[in-house]
Amino acid sequence: MYIVSEAVCEEVFSRADAFSAVESVFAAMASGEARNFPVIREQLGYQDAIYGFKSGFDRAGLSLGLKSGGYWPNNAAKGLTNHQSTVFLFDPDTGKLDALVGGNYLTAIRTAAASSVSIAHLARKDASVLGMVGAGHQSTFQLRAALEQRSFEKILGWNLHPQGLDRLAAVSAEVGLPFEAVEREQLAADADVIITITSAHEALLLSDWIKPGTHIACMGTDTAGKQEIDARIFNRATAFTDEIAQAITIGETQHAFAEGIINETGITAIGDVINGTHPGRGSADEVTIFDGTGVGLQDLAAASASLRAAIEQDKAASIEL
Ligand code: NAD
Repeated sequence: MYIVSEAVCEEVFSRADAFSAVESVFAAMASGEARNFPVIREQLGYQDAIYGFKSGFDRAGLSLGLKSGGYWPNNAAKGLTNHQSTVFLFDPDTGKLDALVGGNYLTAIRTAAASSVSIAHLARKDASVLGMVGAGHQSTFQLRAALEQRSFEKILGWNLHPQGLDRLAAVSAEVGLPFEAVEREQLAADADVIITITSAHEALLLSDWIKPGTHIACMGTDTAGKQEIDARIFNRATAFTDEIAQAITIGETQHAFAEGIINETGITAIGDVINGTHPGRGSADEVTIFDGTGVGLQDLAAASASLRAAIEQDKAASIEL
């Protein structure tokens, strides 16, 4: 059995690797070759933590396994990231445990890959202003991945605690783009692409604020009760997601679904756009939403590719089980 550490994952698995792993697995999900199993996600009643499992099987990529872990909001004070996860990969031919792969870096980079896949396929080609709502651990991964998809000229940011915006400003300075801290209404009025990556439980962006042609990647809502955007935006937007079943239960779409604004047939798996069975954006004025709920198959695709690269580069530890 192999062990691939967090540090090795960072060495062998790049943003480009994550983009192609996530794009391929979204395509396989839409064509029915890959399937996520029901998610287990529970409040522990201890350390305010949420703990769970995401699992699935990709017959095309031959990945079988699960990601175990969750969200420990008090970790930052202990010098740890709030998300903690580990991926278990099994041999799909025998069920034998193949590998344990550190899941923290992979979670961040595969989540950023999901929004960047959505930007690549759905945002206007001439998008020039990127708006970031949220400045936590995931935000810089999101920002770096998004910047590779369009020729952005300016970055806007909003965070509940404005001092947190420093990390977005630092990445902007590093890539040589201007960064401006703004109020949410201004961000919505000016941004062509918006990424929301917060733990909010109420709408941070109102429908009236969103200008025509905007692409919004909602990445923070991955649990029942969380919310980042006004459900009424779904009245005027074309909605896409990684997985429809998750979108209407734990994703951003849950609120519009509960309010009867949208049903299952009103939201499209992004894999259909990747596979060419849905045209994606229909016009320059269309508002598009990507509800990135985070699926286990993303983790398995990222962990499998990391394992292959680590073995090739002789960086995977091996033990007898
Ligand atoms: P973090 O704890 O480092 O940062 C949390 C962010 O949310 C900060 O910007 C904080 O200011 C903001 N926030 C918290 N409460 C808020 C509120 N009430 N109103 C507005 N903003 C608020 O977390 P992180 O690791 O950056 O993750 C951000 C979110 O993304 C989490 O909710 C996490 O569950 C989610 N997430 C989703 C996926 C996915 O695949 N969709 C993957 C990983 C993380």
